Amino acid sequence: MTHPHTHAATGREVALVTGSTSGIGAAIAHRLADEGYFVILHSRGSTEDGAALAEKLGHAAYLQADLSCEADRLRLIADALALTGRLDVLVNNAGISGLIPHGDLAAASPEIWRSLYEVNVIAPFQLVGLAEEALRASAGRGGRACVINISSHAGVRPKGGSIPYAATKAALNHVTRLLARTLGPEIRVNAVAPGLVDTPLTADWTEAQALWQTQSPMRRGARPEDIAQAVMALLASDYITGEVLLSDGGLNLT
Ligand code: NAD
Repeated sequence: MTHPHTHAATGREVALVTGSTSGIGAAIAHRLADEGYFVILHSRGSTEDGAALAEKLGHAAYLQADLSCEADRLRLIADALALTGRLDVLVNNAGISGLIPHGDLAAASPEIWRSLYEVNVIAPFQLVGLAEEALRASAGRGGRACVINISSHAGVRPKGGSIPYAATKAALNHVTRLLARTLGPEIRVNAVAPGLVDTPLTADWTEAQALWQTQSPMRRGARPEDIAQAVMALLASDYITGEVLLSDGGLNLT
């Protein structure tokens, strides 16, 4: 956290990006900062990376919270609002996956189901609820008032790292539509559903990389910046809500 007393005075719109010290979340944070947002970075554990990135982005701060824990979710939104006094954009990017062969039903234990559901579905839903009042206030002063959920193509098509993972992302897509219907017209809620994205998480997914390079119309996996660009496009709209934007380089067409 850096100089909280200076933040409220900036007059910038404020965006909170969960899981933003690496991968897709960090790329989204960079784009938002470039566009002039004050960015609240967040992660579960990488506090040093978070502080360093906040320093680099300039108008940014870092908050730690374990989103599998309800008390931490409450603290995250409370701390964010205490820091900046406003919230205009919430990007629910933090998520967990894990590889389990779909045919190995026993390996997808109830414990794994619960932990994935807690972080990938319940946490984003609860963060929206906790941020609702601030997002409505954003709408009231002509701010963006947007939620973007980062789901996955695995939540749209029957594939992905594991059946529980794919099911949580399908649930997040449906939560996106339900919340869009419930929170409009003040708050827009959309999702970006990436296919393969080159992040540390997928560095050794050689099979998926070969698939994207040979089969997808775009002939490559996404860079984190491609996903950030899709997020910015949804933010820029004044009208699109309840949409799940598949960002898979067209692999779904093959
Ligand atoms: P990543 O591992 O680099 O980032 C995940 C982030 O989530 C990290 O910052 C981590 O701190 C945070 N996180 C995980 N569990 C948490 C918890 N309990 N509490 C707080 N934070 C927690 O991975 P990434 O590839 O950048 O993934 C970002 C999002 O994109 C995820 O929701 C993921 O499911 C989704 N996604 C990724 C890909 C891909 O190919 N990389 C594809 C489709 C969707």
